[in-house]
Amino acid sequence: MARPRGARRRAETTRDRLARLYGGTARELCALDHANPYELLVATILSAQCTDEMVNKVTPSVFSRYPTPGDLARADPSVLEELIHSTGFFRQKAKSLLGMAAAVEESFDGEIPSALDDLVKLPGVGRKTGNVLRSVAFDLPGLPVDTHVGRVSRRLRLTDQDDPVKVEVDLDALVPPPERGAFSIRMILHGRRVCTARRPACERCVLSDVCPSSTVPAAQRPAAVEAGWAAGPEPGGP
Ligand code: SF4
Repeated sequence: MARPRGARRRAETTRDRLARLYGGTARELCALDHANPYELLVATILSAQCTDEMVNKVTPSVFSRYPTPGDLARADPSVLEELIHSTGFFRQKAKSLLGMAAAVEESFDGEIPSALDDLVKLPGVGRKTGNVLRSVAFDLPGLPVDTHVGRVSRRLRLTDQDDPVKVEVDLDALVPPPERGAFSIRMILHGRRVCTARRPACERCVLSDVCPSSTVPAAQRPAAVEAGWAAGPEPGGP
C-alpha cells in the first residue's frame, strides 16, 4: 500500500526535530540498565506491562544471581519468580526467561544472536524486543514499533497502517538504517510526554506545523513550534 502523501518530507522534519529534542544514540536513550546483550534481553522481557524504573530495581539481583544465559537456564523457577514478582505477570515472564536462556544455550552456544530471524525464535522474544536488541545492544538497524510509535506515526501520517509489522515496513522506508533505533525511542518519548493517547499536547509540540493531526490552528503553528523549542527536552529517560 502506498504511503500517505508528503510522508517523506514530514518524516525528515520529524527525524530532525525529535533528534534535537531527545538527543543521543539508541544506547544512550535506552532507559533499561544493562551491561551486555544478555542483560538487555532479560530487562526487555521484564519490561512488558511494567515501568522501566521498576525493571531497573529488579534486574540487579537477577543479573548477580544469574550472570549468564547458562546460569539462568538452570534457575529454580520459584526462586526466579520471587525475584521478578514486582514486575507483574511474573509466572509468564519467568517461563519466557527460562525458555529464552535454554534456547540461547542450546542453539547459540550461550551467545545472544543479533539476527532478527534468530532472535524471534527465542521464547518470549517478538519482533519488537528483537529490534530493541539489534538497535541498542548491537548497534544494528532495528525499529521497534510499540503502541506509542504506532500512534504518533499515524497522527503524523507517516503510515496509515495499524499492524505493527506494516508500520515498521512503512517507517523503514522513511528512516535510514543507522537512525532507526534512536528514532523509535524518540517517538516513544514524544508519545509519552507530548503526543499522548488521550490528550495530545499539540499546542506545545515541535511538530505542530507539519502534523496533519495538529489541533493548533495553522496561523498559530509557528508560535507553537517556537514555544516547543523554548521548553526544550524534559528530563529523564524513556
Ligand atoms: S501536533 Fe499533536 S497530534 Fe501531531 S505529533 Fe504533535 S502532539 Fe501529536
